[in-house]
Amino acid sequence: MVNIQEVNKYLYKYREEILPKYWYNIIPDLPKPLPPPMDPKDTNSRIELLQRILPKEVIKQQFTIDRFVKIPDEILEKYVVVGRPTPLFRAIGLEKFLDTPARIYFKYEGALPTGSHKVNTAIAQVYYAYSENVEGVTTETGAGQWGSAVALASSLYRLKSIVFMVKTSYDHKPARRSLIEFYGAEVVPSPSKITRFGRSLLENNPDHPGSLGIAISEAIEYALEHGYRYVMGSVIDVVLLHQTIIGLEAMRQMELIGEEPDIIVACVGGGSNFAGLAYPFIGLRNKGKRFIAVGSAEVPKFSKGEYRYDYPDTAGLLPLLKMITLGKDFVPPPIYSGGLRYHGLAPSLSLLIRERVVEAIEYREVEVYKAARIFAETQGIVPAPESAHAVKAVIDIALEARKRNEKITILFNLSGHGLLDIDNYKSMMIRYGRF
Ligand SMILES: *Cc1c(COP(=O)(O)O)cnc(C)c1O
Repeated sequence: MVNIQEVNKYLYKYREEILPKYWYNIIPDLPKPLPPPMDPKDTNSRIELLQRILPKEVIKQQFTIDRFVKIPDEILEKYVVVGRPTPLFRAIGLEKFLDTPARIYFKYEGALPTGSHKVNTAIAQVYYAYSENVEGVTTETGAGQWGSAVALASSLYRLKSIVFMVKTSYDHKPARRSLIEFYGAEVVPSPSKITRFGRSLLENNPDHPGSLGIAISEAIEYALEHGYRYVMGSVIDVVLLHQTIIGLEAMRQMELIGEEPDIIVACVGGGSNFAGLAYPFIGLRNKGKRFIAVGSAEVPKFSKGEYRYDYPDTAGLLPLLKMITLGKDFVPPPIYSGGLRYHGLAPSLSLLIRERVVEAIEYREVEVYKAARIFAETQGIVPAPESAHAVKAVIDIALEARKRNEKITILFNLSGHGLLDIDNYKSMMIRYGRF
């Protein structure tokens, strides 16, 4: 007979062993000082705006130079509620299929309730807003990944949340929209009637399709005028800090099975899931390791981007950041990886790529789609189209290892599952064939 108390004790011990008590901040360990956020040379200070719309503790963490930042118990408790630590898998099905001597491990962030890593920072930012006794939080969402993470985090702390969802997604992504509403959040199609900016756009064009930039502007305006706080999904340092829970857990899990990764791989939109997995290794245990950031060739920021100050948001409301960017007005082609269509890249990751600590590669959607199919058919998990970029890189590395007969250990981040993206995959099957 299984003794349930023994099982619970074991599970508790396992969690205690693996779940870190601190996030890791790479800023003091970068090879060069990080260029700070800047205000443009006009009248409105974006940095002051940021200080008014973000929770105070989030601002403090954004600018901290402490190497470790304590995770409050109230946040750790919610991390456990949503399923942290997330599992570390060995991809034996994929290894066999590729007939490779490489050992392939992945951290599965898709095991979290909204299907991706985004809830790691949503829980933290919403908690800090909640502890300031504010009215609620606002944010924007395109495809809906970030919106559903914020909606879930808000429901855990019983805080109101308003998600401005780009009108075209609101109309065409009913599943994500329903998920956000199911968690009790209010979803507003953007442009909306509840902000001045939204109303001004609708006056000129009642059928305005909206954009992420417009949704950000509305979320910020609403936060300013109604005593809400604004929460951000990627790119800024504090978001990357919160995501390091992924890498810190993975480091412990690898230790427990006596493994040390040689190559660490993750996909890159704004850079948060890559930083989450890789930064603890880069800063604390980088000896002999390679780090590979994988982007989309349709959004070629690695190959064609410039390293300069640019706005992180299309509307130009937030402070300028020194980053690798295609320009804030870059219009991405309609690839299915919504999370990788972003024009820029987190400042610390931009610097690490410039300093050649991190290698950057890009793949075309058709190649990524094939990798996603291979992964689904050999491992069972349908990867998010974003995460499938990392899968594609891992397949290439493992095949190279076969050629050279190298027994390397690969660790990658499966940042999300693709079950809510299955219609996108269906479209790709029609576009690219079943092969
Ligand atoms: C949003 C998202 C990404 C891209 O964002 P990063 O900040 O670069 O991590 C990648 N994968 C999934 C599953 C996402 O939802």
